[in-house]
Amino acid sequence: MVYVDFDHEIPRYVYTGCANCSSVMGISMCSITNRGCCYYYPKYTLVDIQKMARTLEGLTFLNSIIQLPTREVEPFRIIAKGYFDRKSYNEYIMGKNRLNISNIQDHSIFFKACPFVKSGFGCTLPPRYRTYVCNFFLCDEIIQSIKTKNCFEVYIRERERYVRWIEWENTSLMKILQEYKVDLIKDWEGSIRILQDIPLNIYEFPKLHPIVVDTGSSRGA
Ligand code: SF4
Ligand code: SF4
Repeated sequence: MVYVDFDHEIPRYVYTGCANCSSVMGISMCSITNRGCCYYYPKYTLVDIQKMARTLEGLTFLNSIIQLPTREVEPFRIIAKGYFDRKSYNEYIMGKNRLNISNIQDHSIFFKACPFVKSGFGCTLPPRYRTYVCNFFLCDEIIQSIKTKNCFEVYIRERERYVRWIEWENTSLMKILQEYKVDLIKDWEGSIRILQDIPLNIYEFPKLHPIVVDTGSSRGA
């Protein structure tokens, strides 16, 4: 089943089959196995950072991202870089056993893992601290299994609307920081204080009807 879930008003799409992921994207050739499609390095935008900066729990989490040895801070976002088994990837690329998969161009994903995923468990973060990419990703296998269902178009359309809203909010927050002549690199503390003082806008995501999948597969988020 695919359905909409909320964690402290933060929406996400859930596919119940993710617990038994058999998708191509779920293939792992690194030491972190059974990690579903959580090879992704989450990119925390100003909307995410503002949300975290407003509670003690969120601030604690934000600090844990900043303390990641491989995180990258950009002027208006933070990339939580994770694990990459580059040696095995290089051997794989040079070898003859490359997977013959036409819909995946970047095979480095098979050797990567998000810093927040745990083998065989999935994401260790509550959904409210995940990025919208994490919360709304549906792999090709899921799309194929639900695309003929009546509600499918609505799910895609509502996701697109939400992403446009996030982009709008991010642009607005970026402009405010620019007016104060600060960014996350130039003045981290100052940027966080400004974000804390800006009222938090909440998106009213619709409570869509669940989609029942006829056949499914599926570990990860
Ligand atoms: S969305 Fe779910 S089923 Fe698809 S690759 Fe990710 S964990 Fe697997
Ligand atoms: S869902 Fe969680 S573990 Fe997976 S990529 Fe996103 S933050 Fe990382």
